[in-house]
Amino acid sequence: MTTTARPDAGRNASPCLYGEEAAAVARVLEGGQYGHTEVTEEFEGRIAEFLGVRDAVAVMSGTAGLHTALLAAEVGPGHEVVVPSMTFCATVQAILAVGATPRFVDIDPATLCVTDQLVMDAVTDRTRAVMPVLFGGRAIDFSRIHKELAARDITIVEDAAHAFGSRNGVRRVGATGDLTCFSYGPIKNLTCGQGGIVIPRGHVEAATIRRIRMLGVVQSQAERAMTTSYGVEGFGLRYQMSGINAAIGLAQLDHFGKAETTRRSLWRAYRRALAGLDGVTLVDVDPDRSVPHLCQVRIPYRDEVFAQLKACGIGVGVHYPPNHLQPAFAEWTCDLPATEQVGREILTLPFHQHLTEADIGQVVTALDQALKTVGAASCARS
Ligand SMILES: *Cc1c(COP(=O)(O)O)cnc(C)c1O
Repeated sequence: MTTTARPDAGRNASPCLYGEEAAAVARVLEGGQYGHTEVTEEFEGRIAEFLGVRDAVAVMSGTAGLHTALLAAEVGPGHEVVVPSMTFCATVQAILAVGATPRFVDIDPATLCVTDQLVMDAVTDRTRAVMPVLFGGRAIDFSRIHKELAARDITIVEDAAHAFGSRNGVRRVGATGDLTCFSYGPIKNLTCGQGGIVIPRGHVEAATIRRIRMLGVVQSQAERAMTTSYGVEGFGLRYQMSGINAAIGLAQLDHFGKAETTRRSLWRAYRRALAGLDGVTLVDVDPDRSVPHLCQVRIPYRDEVFAQLKACGIGVGVHYPPNHLQPAFAEWTCDLPATEQVGREILTLPFHQHLTEADIGQVVTALDQALKTVGAASCARS
C-alpha cells in the first residue's frame, strides 16, 4: 500500500488544548500554592454546576476516583463486585485495591456495555457493588434495576471515564445513578493532565469521599494552619487533585461545547464513511446523547488489519484486551463468549479533535484496502 497518513491520523487519541491552559497553570504556579487549593474547589463547583449535581469531589486520577468510590460504598474483603471484563484494567484494579472480588460479566456486543439482564444474572448474596462501564461515552440507563439493587444494599458505581458530558435522557451522566466516577486523564473528553472526579449521592457520602482523598483528615488546610494538631478520622490516601491540574480542567471546561460538537460530528463522519464497507460493524455510541470518546469497529482478521494499518501510519488501537484473560486476574476468569469474540474483532480507529473529515476518509479507505488485501491473502491460503 502507498498511503502515508497525515500526522493527526497517525495518533489513536490526543488531548485537545483550547489555548488558555498554559496561562491558567502559570497563574497557579505564581500563586505559590500547588496542592489542594481554592482552584481545586472552584473546579469542583464548576463541574457540579455543569452536570447539574449538588456536589463533586476532585481526585488525582480516574483510578483513584473508582477506588475512593468503592471505599465510600463500604465494599471490601468478602464482597463481590460485578464488572464487565471489557474495560480498562483500572476498573478491575480498583476492586482489588479494596480487597473485594471481581465477578466478570459479558456485554452486549453491539454497544460493548452490560445490560440489565447480564447484571442481574451475575448478582449473588455477596455482591456489594456493580461497576458498569459507559463504553465509548454511551450512557446507560439503570433505572429499571436500580430499586432492586438498592433493596439488596448493592451500590452502582459507574465507571464514566469515557462519558464526561454524555446524557441520560435530558440529564447529564453523573446526575442519575448512585456513585459516578469520571477520568480527566490526558486523552479523555476533558483533561486536567491527570485527574478525576467522583459524584456522590449526598452530603454524608461527599464528606466521606473528601476525607478519604485527604489521608483521612477532615480539617481544611486553612483550619489545620490555625491549630497545633489535626484529626485523622479514618482511612485515607493522598488522592486530592492539585490546583495545577484543576486549572487545566477549568480552562478546558470553558470550551467543552466545542469538544461536544466536534466529537459528535467526527463520529457521524466516520459512520457515513464506514456505511458501505463490507465486513465492518461500527460499535454504536448513540451520538445524539453521548459525547463520543472512541470510534470502534468489529472486523475479521483484526490482527492482520491492525498490522497493515500501522504500517501505513494509521493510529489504530485496541480497547481493550479482555481482563478475564489477563494473567493478573486469572483467579477470577470465566467463560464470556461475547467479550472474547469482541476481544478478537475490536479495532479502535483514530479519534480525537485534531482530525479532519479528510483524515477520516483516508483512514476508512486504508481500512477498506487492508480488509481486501488481508481477506484475499487468507482465501489464497485456504
Ligand atoms: C481512563 C480510564 C480509567 C482510569 O482513569 P485514569 O484517570 O487513567 O486513572 C478507568 N476506566 C476506564 C474505562 C478508562 O478509560
